[in-house]
Order: sequence, then structure tokens, then C-alpha cells
Amino acid sequence: PLVESELAARPVVWTIAGSDSGGGAGIQADLLTLHDLGCHGCSVITAITAQNSVAVTAVEPVSPAMLAAQLEALKADLYPAAVKIGLIANQAQLEFLAQWLGDNLPGVPVILDPVMVASCGDELQHAASRAQGAATVSTLDFSGLDFSAFAGRATLITPNVTEVARLVSGIAVPYAGESIGEEAESDCTRWRLAVRAVARHFGVSLLAKGGDARWQTQHASDLLLLSDIGNISTLYRGGEFYLESPRVDTANNHGSGCTLSSAIAAFMAKGMVLPDAVMMAKAYVYEGLKASFQPGSGPGPLARTG
Ligand code: PLP
Repeated sequence: PLVESELAARPVVWTIAGSDSGGGAGIQADLLTLHDLGCHGCSVITAITAQNSVAVTAVEPVSPAMLAAQLEALKADLYPAAVKIGLIANQAQLEFLAQWLGDNLPGVPVILDPVMVASCGDELQHAASRAQGAATVSTLDFSGLDFSAFAGRATLITPNVTEVARLVSGIAVPYAGESIGEEAESDCTRWRLAVRAVARHFGVSLLAKGGDARWQTQHASDLLLLSDIGNISTLYRGGEFYLESPRVDTANNHGSGCTLSSAIAAFMAKGMVLPDAVMMAKAYVYEGLKASFQPGSGPGPLARTG
């Protein structure tokens, strides 16, 4: 438990993300995580989703004026020590956010989770069609977004395997992203090359999450590429690291990506340098997965174990 002086010192962290009415992912997961890790979480909501643990039934982006109003209100009073970005609902929101953060929060660490398809997307879609017939469509597909506006602006980008494939598809590399998913060995090599290409393209540090990789059966191995031009400690001048934890065999991983990126933001707000914050956040997600639970009939969320 935190002592009183630590509570008083809770740094402010913003989560810019979508609301998950089911309470497992998005803003709800972020605020639980930020509080658990000793920060004060503020939220800038990009979209409201109607979803439970088996289906997403509607998504409504907030208006450009409402997005801007939330940011301006927080800037005027609750200035952040770090920012996490999750679901962005459309390209106009994305361009606006990249520009606004660059203009208004210089030097504040920005952890960008390029949410395109939820890590639980397939399960959601399948469960939804089982429950409600073929009419249900997964509405959580933002794969058309172009994140280039964040090149040089984010501190860290945290794509999963599917998102690396999407991000690299517009970049000229020897191995195109679409072929990821074929055979284990070459899969892993293609992924690594794609990850490097994406990191070079964006010019920032990148944490490529391997938890959803088909070639990983025993471990959840992530690849961390540290940029030497990002605003990280001079102790770390670039480099490539594998971070490995045992695979947790659970379907209750809803919101794991959201939890990871907000935990990284929390640890940075608490004063850690990027690589330390990433390692601590990965351990936090591992513990959260081990204690995850199932409040509905579909995949449940991680427990908070701070
Ligand atoms: N943001 C919102 C609002 C969501 O509903 C989801 C998944 O359902 C996500 C982000 C991404 O979730 P995950 O962390 O499981 O990839």
C-alpha cells in the first residue's frame, strides 16, 4: 500500500482513448491501471463504444470540438507528466492529436498504442456472431488509420503483431507485412525486419508486442527498439532488446494492450527512464494476466495487482 506522502505526490497522467462500456479495456482499463500504479489519471475520450465481453455493438467518435475541449481543459489545470494514447476513432482525430500534442506538450512523454484491431478482436467477432447471428459486424476495426503524423512525435509506439504488419505495409522493406503469419521460423524473421523498418520510419522507440504471435507458444516475447534520438536518458543510446515472460494461458486478456501502455506512462510519470518503465509494465501485465477473471460470458479483464 502507498504511504500518505506518496499518495499526495500522485503525478498526473492523461489517457487519450475510447470508452469500453464493458469496463475491460480502453479508458476504463487505463484509469484503473493509473490509479493502481500511484498516478492520477485524467481522460480525453475519443469515442464511446457500446460493448460487453462478447460483442461490440456500436462506436461513436466524439466531435472535433469535444476532443479539443477536453484537451484544453486539462492543459489549463491538470498538466500531465506523461500521456498515453489508445484508440483513435478516425484520421482527422489522429492528425489533430499529433499536431496538438506537438504544439502544446513539448517534452512530455507520449506512449502511443496504435489500436487498429483489438487484441481480442477475433474472439469478439466470433462470439458476437454466435450470439446474435450473422448480422453482427465487429465495429472495432480501425486498420485504415495512417499513423505517420506521429513520426518523431511519440516517445514510444507499442504495436502488436497485426499492427506491425499494417504499419509496415506502406513502407518499402524486403519483406512485406502481409506475409506475416505463414510459417514459424521465417515469420519471426519477417516480423523482426518489419519492426526495425517501422521504428526507422517513425524515428522513435518502439515496443513490438509478441503476445499475439503464432510462433510463440511458450513465451510472450516482446522486442524493444530504443531510439537514440528520442527523449530518453543518455544512459541508453539506442539498442535492441528481447523482453520475455512465460506465456499465461488465459482467454481473459481483454485490455492487456491498454494496460501495458498506460502502465508504461505511469512508470515514466513516476520518474523511470523508458526501458525501465517498459520492463516494469511488462511484469505488471504478466501479474495482471495471472490474476485475470471473467465477469461476463466472454473474455474478461486483467486484475490490477499494483
Ligand atoms: N480501446 C477500446 C475502447 C477497446 O474497446 C479495446 C478493445 O476492445 C481496445 C482499446 C484494445 O484492447 P486491447 O488492449 O485488448 O488490445
